[in-house]
Amino acid sequence: MTFELPELPYRADALEPFLSKQTLDTHHGKHHRGYINKLNELIDGTDYQDLSLQEIVVRAKENGDTAIFNNAAQSLNHGFLWESMSPDGGSPPAGPLGDAIDAAFGNLKGFKEAFKAKALTQFGSGWVWLVVDSGGLKIVQTGNADTPVQHGVQPILTLDVWEHAYYLDYKNDRGGYVDSFLSDRVNWAFAARNFESIKAAA
Ligand code: MN
Repeated sequence: MTFELPELPYRADALEPFLSKQTLDTHHGKHHRGYINKLNELIDGTDYQDLSLQEIVVRAKENGDTAIFNNAAQSLNHGFLWESMSPDGGSPPAGPLGDAIDAAFGNLKGFKEAFKAKALTQFGSGWVWLVVDSGGLKIVQTGNADTPVQHGVQPILTLDVWEHAYYLDYKNDRGGYVDSFLSDRVNWAFAARNFESIKAAA
């Protein structure tokens, strides 16, 4: 199949002042589009072309097809990223997700501190993820294009910490970018939906 760039689930200026329209236009319209176009070019006429993005990620890793893995994983990761951010992500988590956050991190503040620490200690390009691991919540980092799908855990929220995600707005201040995300741009409704569907399937 030919993959298409998914639309942003909000206007490109909707996350301001957390992220500018210029950042979203570039990140979505250039970077994410670039990964998708490159992937389509790489899989054309190969056994990969009938697989889903997730299947391509797993298969390409097994086969050592690095370029296909990188572009498929980045296509998948960015689709998940747009959903993880929101101009109005709802209230801080209550219900099952809120309980699981308290169990894993003490409280919401503890979660935010742990998430920020993982974001700041990811050396170079990568991602920070809130994942479900053996029924509980955990925060993990992945480098470059790597994705938790590869590591047997299920993501419910992510933040891109590649410089291209924040440099136009924050220069080298990754911490300021993460703080702004955590203060009022997390899509908690998305995270709660993911968490509850993972628990229901377990
Ligand atoms: Mn990115």
